[in-house]
Amino acid sequence: MSLSQPISTALRTTKVHLSRLQELGIHTVRDLLLFFPRAYDDKSQYTCIAELRTDEVNNVRGIISNIFHKRTKNGKYLTKALFSDETGSIEVVWFNQPYLKRVLISGKEIVLSGKAKFGFGKLSLQSPSFEETKKEQTHSGRIVPVYHQTEGITSKWLREKLQPLLEEWVSRLEDFLPEDIRKENDLMDYHKAVKEVHFPTSEENLEEAKKRLSFDELFLLQLKALQKKWHWQNVSEHEQKPMQQHTDLGNFLKNLPFELTNAQVKTLNEILTDLKQLYPMSRLVQGDVGSGKTVVAGAVMLNAIKHGYQTALMAPTEILARQHYQTLFKLFSPFGINIQFIAGSTVQSQKEQIANDLKTGTIDAVVGTHALIQENIGFKNLGLAVIDEQHRFGVKQRDILKSNGSPHLLSLSATPIPRTLAMTLYGDQDLSVIDEMPKGRQQIITRIVPEKKRMDAYHWIEEQIKSGRQAFVICPLIDESDVLEVKSAIQEFEYLQEHIFPKLKLGLLHGKMKAKEKDEIMELFKQNMINILVSTSVIEVGIDIPNATIMMIEGADRFGLSQLHQFRGRVGRGEHQSYCFLFTDKKSDEGKKRLQAMVDHSSGFKLAEIDLSLRGPGEIYGVKQSGIPDLKMASLTDSITINLAREAAKKLIDQDPQLSNYPKLKEKVKEMEEVFVND
Ligand code: ADP
Ligand code: MG
Repeated sequence: MSLSQPISTALRTTKVHLSRLQELGIHTVRDLLLFFPRAYDDKSQYTCIAELRTDEVNNVRGIISNIFHKRTKNGKYLTKALFSDETGSIEVVWFNQPYLKRVLISGKEIVLSGKAKFGFGKLSLQSPSFEETKKEQTHSGRIVPVYHQTEGITSKWLREKLQPLLEEWVSRLEDFLPEDIRKENDLMDYHKAVKEVHFPTSEENLEEAKKRLSFDELFLLQLKALQKKWHWQNVSEHEQKPMQQHTDLGNFLKNLPFELTNAQVKTLNEILTDLKQLYPMSRLVQGDVGSGKTVVAGAVMLNAIKHGYQTALMAPTEILARQHYQTLFKLFSPFGINIQFIAGSTVQSQKEQIANDLKTGTIDAVVGTHALIQENIGFKNLGLAVIDEQHRFGVKQRDILKSNGSPHLLSLSATPIPRTLAMTLYGDQDLSVIDEMPKGRQQIITRIVPEKKRMDAYHWIEEQIKSGRQAFVICPLIDESDVLEVKSAIQEFEYLQEHIFPKLKLGLLHGKMKAKEKDEIMELFKQNMINILVSTSVIEVGIDIPNATIMMIEGADRFGLSQLHQFRGRVGRGEHQSYCFLFTDKKSDEGKKRLQAMVDHSSGFKLAEIDLSLRGPGEIYGVKQSGIPDLKMASLTDSITINLAREAAKKLIDQDPQLSNYPKLKEKVKEMEEVFVND
């Protein structure tokens, strides 16, 4: 007998039930044992009949008698009975449940769960669920598990099948957690935890069981992440010598038209410390839009170049890559650095020239899009690779860049994520946080605009534009249909141009446009040849247009907080006061809370935390794409268990990075590797 045997061999049930189980992902005995409840009903308290409440579900234990069945005039089937305990008696009524005739036995003790109702001047229990009394109740008189259901598979059915199966099989489930780690972290025995999570014997035991099973999941995730980091830092190809701080770095910083913020200095130092090591860095810098990540990246690129290495910076879009190129070109100009730009639009002959010069090493720094990781691109001695907006790239794309002689790797992200979440999503990277904005950065005034004020808002925008400013209009996100989204953007653009702002010049930007067309539009907007840019959410990433001061977002409730925050970050980049207007037609409570959070807070980290608490991690930008397998028990917001698991995993990987002494764990981590979707 094995846990991997088909469930049909261990359960007596129908073909239909079996195929429904398959739909729930349950194929083997193990699958069923590990099909955990999604919620619980606390039915552990019995009510006596004298104290029945009309407003809630009561669990009553008593004797059933005086059962009679009848058909009513209008053809309905009615069952009535008397139900008594030591405190009194009550009438019970069921409608249209003829099978009761077979199962209710007068004089028997049973448990009923249901609401009591007043009718015809007396209290009765109406259509309660019932169960025979046993030493240990399955459906009542306890904390009862509630499962994800599918047609034909009810929680009640699952409970009935699971209880005997658990008794028989649970001790065979393999526990992969080393005993010393279990004890150190004060965790429940595995088999007990699986039993308790299905059929809790108390609230406390249930909590302990959940904690144990969550720990298991998070521990594996952390092991995998830390192992990946270990592999990365122990690659043999890494040929860099430790880089000290070069004197030109000081000159570079002195040359800047501003002083770095404390958070920038701290992050810079963390990176410089990494570069002094013999192994390659793997670090993620998180910082709000406008917090100044580029200049920090530029500083360490310069440091690497001055040690004789090549550097590369990859960005997700051509607009963004070009912007970085221009910034770095200026910053590097006093230091005799050969910096080049490469993207999809670069002409073939030039691409070839760049590819050649990268190989011979005459190019010191290259900035570009995916074009950077095309097959024919290779480096002479790449010492540092920077990836901007790293979540926009797939794991593979990052790996290709890394495979060029295992350079130090620096990732940047403008999507702030709460620390514990980042630790799980990006556990293979060290984390630096720029949680401070440069001095004098203006506060963007944010307002939720009611529909009746729409025209006023348009007039006001027109005034602003007459005084020289520019505006963005973001069209609503339309789920699962790029085509509809584009269509609505086109309509909005035409409507605004014809009826609202006929005297102004409007531009349109959407995802179905060619990269070159998009660039042209952005360029016109940048030069203020376009007053208002109507766009779908493609505008999101990092573009810098200081003269744009108005961000108007339609259907704002459809966007997540992180995304709204990203949009807002497009304005407030210049000297003029900037504004963000949120329009919404829907008024769900959660949506309202989200928009209000935008009005109340300007920190992306704060907003990310709020988003996490409002919508849960699944919805947060980047979680779905991160390749993290679905967690059955653990929550990505459970920072206490995440920290426990992280610490335990760290300790273990430090001692035994390959898990040679823990074959079961090793196996499990490897198994998970296959679950991780590598895009
Ligand atoms: P992001 O973190 O969004 O990539 P950028 O690196 O594009 O932000 O920086 C936004 C703007 O802030 C740039 O114009 C940059 O020159 C400027 N900047 C960066 N650091 C500072 C600072 N310490 N003080 C003032 N301005 C700064
Ligand atoms: Mg940036």
